[in-house]
Amino acid sequence: MKIALVGIGKIALDQHVPAIAASPDWELAATVSRKGRVDGIESHADFASFLAARPDVGVVSLTMPPAPRFAFAEAALRAGRHVMLEKPPGATLAEVHELAALAAARGLTLFATWHSRMALAVAPARAWLRGRTITRAHVTWREDVRRWHPGQDWVFEPGGMGVFDPGINALSILTEILPAPVHLTGATLTYPENCHTPIAAELTFSGGITADFDWRQQGPQTWDIDIHTDAGHLALRMGGNRLLIDGVESAGENSIMGEYPALYARMAQLVKTGTSDVDLAPLTHVADAMTLGRRVIVPPFHL
Ligand code: NAP
Repeated sequence: MKIALVGIGKIALDQHVPAIAASPDWELAATVSRKGRVDGIESHADFASFLAARPDVGVVSLTMPPAPRFAFAEAALRAGRHVMLEKPPGATLAEVHELAALAAARGLTLFATWHSRMALAVAPARAWLRGRTITRAHVTWREDVRRWHPGQDWVFEPGGMGVFDPGINALSILTEILPAPVHLTGATLTYPENCHTPIAAELTFSGGITADFDWRQQGPQTWDIDIHTDAGHLALRMGGNRLLIDGVESAGENSIMGEYPALYARMAQLVKTGTSDVDLAPLTHVADAMTLGRRVIVPPFHL
């Protein structure tokens, strides 16, 4: 199937282009980006012109930041194309609900991807937790924004999500593996005085679950989830790629695919079966944190 990548920047070049190139399902037919290009691939600067010029490209994958993504997704669906959304799927819940309704009304596939759910140890963790009772859990997601997002000022603009840009990856794993849903009950959000989005967040959920996100971590980076149950301690390390049960490394039924190849395989399956996959649980927790969060102001921060 022919696919176009829209918004050629860091993640498109790091992950999407190699995943599509390695896939038996997909042919990268075109790119759409104001400046970004992929060597050897037809490129368009304007999305409306692309849609008019290439009716044969039935699928688009939108890899620009979340704030501008809705307009592209809506135009693509109205032009009869299936749509794949990078995470977070949109700047607000309402806009993604609208896209899901539009896709359903037109019989098109909408896939709100969560790449971290495809990490190697996530499916085994979910299987291990099934039927167990969770007594408490803690998420620690601490990384250095200057290292991972150099020059990407949009993360601190409205709709850029701030520390929830990585934190929503943890929430996507948590909501995938917990045997029952939880809801946010409180949050403390730390805003540099020159930023519109938080640089750190402490979250409390029902069921004894807490989370600590911080984008100011120097040195070793931490992407850990610890879940205590009535029958042992589950630890996910390295962003869902390692699983330890009571301190012992567990291979489980690991996926053999990388995160992005697995997303593209799933998109192929969704298109072939005429279905959509839009789970907004991770974004709901972020929206709730913004609703309930207490604000702490700290000195200015510059990327
Ligand atoms: P990025 O490099 O800053 O942006 C990607 C491209 O989007 C830009 O190069 C730009 O291309 C286009 N773009 C930026 N602002 C735009 C606007 N207002 N309107 C239209 N196009 C715009 O960002 P990224 O790091 O790739 O992240 C993009 C998405 O992927 C985010 O949702 C992020 O959470 C997700 N993601 C990122 C990473 C990562 O490691 N960076 C990992 C996983 C997921 P042109 O200027 O050429 O139009």
